[in-house]
Amino acid sequence: MALSIRKKLTIWYVALLLVSLLASSAAFSYYLYRTFLTGIDGQINSVAGRMIHTIVGPSGQLLIPGDFDIILERFFGIRTSGNYIQMLDPLGKVVAKSSNLSGSTLPLSRQAYESAFNGSSTFEIVMVSGKSVRLVTKPIVFTEHGIVAIVQVAASLDIMQQVFHSMAYIFTAGFVGSAVMAGLLGYFLAKKALQPVAEITKTARRIGAENLNERINVAATKDEIGMLASTINEMIERLERSFRQIKQFTADASHELKTPLTILKGEMEVALRSGSDPQAMKEAMTSALEEIDRMNYLVKNLLDLARIDAEKEAAGASPVRLDTALLDRAERLRRFASEKGVGIAVSRNDPAEVMGDPVRIGQLIFNLIDNAVKYTPQGHGVFLSVENNGGSAILKVRDTGMGISKDDLPYIFDRFYRVDKARTRDAGGAGLGLSICREIVESMKGAIEAESEVGRGTTFTVRLPLAGKEKEADKAFSG
Ligand code: ATP
Ligand code: MG
Repeated sequence: MALSIRKKLTIWYVALLLVSLLASSAAFSYYLYRTFLTGIDGQINSVAGRMIHTIVGPSGQLLIPGDFDIILERFFGIRTSGNYIQMLDPLGKVVAKSSNLSGSTLPLSRQAYESAFNGSSTFEIVMVSGKSVRLVTKPIVFTEHGIVAIVQVAASLDIMQQVFHSMAYIFTAGFVGSAVMAGLLGYFLAKKALQPVAEITKTARRIGAENLNERINVAATKDEIGMLASTINEMIERLERSFRQIKQFTADASHELKTPLTILKGEMEVALRSGSDPQAMKEAMTSALEEIDRMNYLVKNLLDLARIDAEKEAAGASPVRLDTALLDRAERLRRFASEKGVGIAVSRNDPAEVMGDPVRIGQLIFNLIDNAVKYTPQGHGVFLSVENNGGSAILKVRDTGMGISKDDLPYIFDRFYRVDKARTRDAGGAGLGLSICREIVESMKGAIEAESEVGRGTTFTVRLPLAGKEKEADKAFSG
C-alpha cells in the first residue's frame, strides 16, 4: 500500500513520541520503585535491629515477650495491621508472632535461612494472606553460642502498589491522549508543510507547450520546498527559452527559404514571357541561377548546423594540425581577398594539434576569415595567428574593418542574425556562418568569443584544447 508522505510523517511522529514516552515512564517507574523499596527496607531493618536490642537481656539471655503486639506498639509505634513481626528458633520453628498473623506465619525461605547462618540479613518480597509484603530475615547471634534466634519483620507494600496502579492508569490515559493529539497535530502540520508541494504538482501538471510562461507560485523561501519550486521554475524558463528559439529558428529558416523562392518564381515568369528575346531570357536565367545558388548555400548551412548538433554525440575526431589548416584556408581565401583589396597576413603560427573533424575545422577557419574579408573595406587587413600555450591552442582572426556595435555583439552567434540585413543580403550571407562556428567549437569542447570596436575592427578568438588535453579542458572551458 502506498502511503502519502503526510500519513508516513504522522505515523513516524506518533510512533517516536510513544517510544520516548514509554522509555521515560519506564525509567521513572523503575526509579520510583527503587526509592520505595529502599525506604521500606530501611524501616523494617531498623525495626528488626531495635527489636533484637530489646529482647536480648543485659547478660545475653533472650527475653521473649508474652504479648508481641504491646511490644510492637509501645516500643516501635508501628500500627500492627499490615506490618508483621515473627520470631523463630535456630531450627526455623516459630516461637512468637504478632497477633495480626493469626493463622498464618511469615515464610522462611531456604536462602534467607542459610544467609541467617552466615550472619547476614535477607530482603524479599513475599505473599502473606494474599498480599505482597517486604520481609527482612535477621539472625540474633551471641558470640559464644552462635545463632540463637531469627527475627522477621515485614511491611505491607499496599501503598506502593496503589501508587503504581494509579500511575499505570495515568500513564495509559496520557499515552493515548498524547498519541491522539500528536497524530492530529502532526497530520495538520504535515498538511501545512506539504501544501506548497501540492501547489507545485498542480502547476507542473497544468504546464504544457502553450503555457510555458506560467510559473509555480510559491513564496520565495530558502527552505527545501522553496528551492524545489525555484529550481522547477528555472527549468521551465530554460524550456521556454529553447522552445522560443526553436520557433524563431523555424520561422527564420522558412522566411529565408521563401525569399529566394519568390524571386525565382518571378525570374521564371519573366523568362516565360520574354518569348523570342534571347537576351531577356538569358538575364532571367542567370538571375534564377544566382537565387538557386543562394538557396543551395542556405540549405547546405542549415544541414551543417543540424549535422554538427548530431555529431556532438558521435566520436569521429582525429588529430588535426590547426596551424596547417590555417595556412591552407588563408591560401584559398587570398584571391577573394585581393579582389576586394584586402590583405591577409599570418602573424604567428605555432605548431598546435587539436582533436576534431578536419572538414569542420576547415569550415570554422573559413567562416571566420570569410567574415573578416567580407566586412573589411578596401585597403585594410586581416591578421591570423595560432598560439600554442601548452594547454590549449588559441586561434585569432583579427581585422581592421567596420567592427560590430556593442548592441549587436551579444547576438552575432545566433542563427540568422545579421547586423545589417540589407547589406549582407547583397553579400550573400544568411547569418548562419558564426552559429556554425560556435557549434563546431563547442563540439570540440572549446570556446569562441568576439571583441570589437565600431570603425576599428574585430577580433575573433577561438580556444581549443590541445590533442590529449581535452579532459583538463573540459573543466577549464565549461567552468
Ligand atoms: P553567412 O556567414 O551565413 O554567409 P553572415 O556572414 O552574414 O552570413 P555570420 O557569419 O553569422 O553571418 O555573421 C553574423 C553577422 O555578424 C554578420 O552579418 C555581420 O554583420 C557580423 N560580422 C561577422 N563577422 C564580422 C566582422 N569580422 N566584422 C564586422 N561584422 C562582422
Ligand atoms: Mg559569415
